[in-house]
Amino acid sequence: MPRACVSFYPTLAEPSANRYSILRMRMTKLFTKTTKEAPQDAESANARLLARAGFVDQHMAGVYSYLPLGLRVLKNIQRIVREEMDAIGGQEVLLPALLSSEPWKKTGRWEDPGPEVMFQFRGAGDRDVGLGWTHEEIITPLMQKFVHSYQDLPVAVYQIQDKFRNELRAKSGILRGREFNMKDLYSFHASVDDLEEYYDKVLEAYLRVFTRCGINAIPTEASGGSFSKISHEFQMPTESGEDTIFVNEAGDYAWNKEVVPDIKDGDPAPDGSGKVKEMKAVEVGNIFKLKTKYTEAFDMTFTDESGERKPVQMGCYGIGPSRVMGSIVEASHDDAGMIWPKSVAPYPVHLVSITSNDEEMNERVRSVAEGIADDLEKCCGIEVLWDDRSDVSAGEKFADADLIGIPLRLVVSKKTLAEDSAEWRQRGSDETRLIKIEGIREEVEAYVKEE
Ligand code: ATP
Ligand code: MG
Repeated sequence: MPRACVSFYPTLAEPSANRYSILRMRMTKLFTKTTKEAPQDAESANARLLARAGFVDQHMAGVYSYLPLGLRVLKNIQRIVREEMDAIGGQEVLLPALLSSEPWKKTGRWEDPGPEVMFQFRGAGDRDVGLGWTHEEIITPLMQKFVHSYQDLPVAVYQIQDKFRNELRAKSGILRGREFNMKDLYSFHASVDDLEEYYDKVLEAYLRVFTRCGINAIPTEASGGSFSKISHEFQMPTESGEDTIFVNEAGDYAWNKEVVPDIKDGDPAPDGSGKVKEMKAVEVGNIFKLKTKYTEAFDMTFTDESGERKPVQMGCYGIGPSRVMGSIVEASHDDAGMIWPKSVAPYPVHLVSITSNDEEMNERVRSVAEGIADDLEKCCGIEVLWDDRSDVSAGEKFADADLIGIPLRLVVSKKTLAEDSAEWRQRGSDETRLIKIEGIREEVEAYVKEE
């Protein structure tokens, strides 16, 4: 039985009466347009398809604007990341991106890596300032103000913010930006044991993030820098990745070439788990046990239960939501365009109304399509991208739908209305079928909500 729709929304005004209030996104209002031509320097699939579909616009190499459809994808990824960070006790903050040089001079990173990575310049009052490319130097002195005793530990803090890095080569679209979005989590602990326990929890949370985003990211042993023997990267196999990894037979663990320089494809795995397979991959996340590397630099200590002062143990954990977005495109597209997983798609439903030279029929098609969109949005909170253009052929509309890559396409036309139906097609499948108009809400709701 269809539920009665109790609506909290005001009745829709005539478009002309309120030109800017659009409940659903109509393609006639969407300011971005698709194009057949990809930017000349777009080598990878994500650069090509995201630009062609109007999801992003390149400002300069490695720097992008996110346009309405692309921003919705980025926000969906950030929402998943945020939910999983909250679930492991992360407290969200927003740190500055414009940074004083002082704490960086303290750790030595103002000089090394220095301007090779960090954008550095002179601000007012002749002060050295720079743009944030990571935030250990900011979070450690900040947390020092609040953490005094063992009772204040453990604590985990994260932010989602744009980072800036003076990358030598910014290619591969949004996979490697000079400005890019990052979630960085920092955790503080009274003991190494506690840090290690939390590190494992983050590893699990990261796997949930990537599974929910529809990508296969393999935990990969990598070098731990100067503070720890190893770290873990999360590597998604793709030819457009810059890293080389060796994956175990089960496909659930890997080693970065940098920690196993002598290994070759087909050799036994370092842990004896069968033979390894060599693959190109992109790093979508990275977790580190920093231990006391930064807490010692800032003299961040706490008093333990016996009153003794000890250095705080620290971990840091990064995910790049913008790189994740590009990686999804690399992993999930075909010749026609992108194929978004439901969890991150800009809209769950792409509704296409097809007009003909029968004016009366066009009015009916339009009102049925509008009714479907209203019903889905007001009654189930399912948002719809509605291709309501009347000056575009059916073929062009279908090509745009394939390029944009929304998982479910519903078509209303004279032909489908003859059967009191709409046509249902999932992106990535050639199968189409008719479903009755009156059953649409329930079927779409079931489809959108199923895992
Ligand atoms: P890479 O080895 O690819 O240069 P990194 O090891 O320097 O990355 P981290 O400092 O560990 O990266 O950053 C955490 C996460 O931020 C990475 O796992 C990745 O998802 C993302 N990231 C890092 N650099 C970039 C970049 N230039 N553009 C987009 N995302 C990035
Ligand atoms: Mg890394």
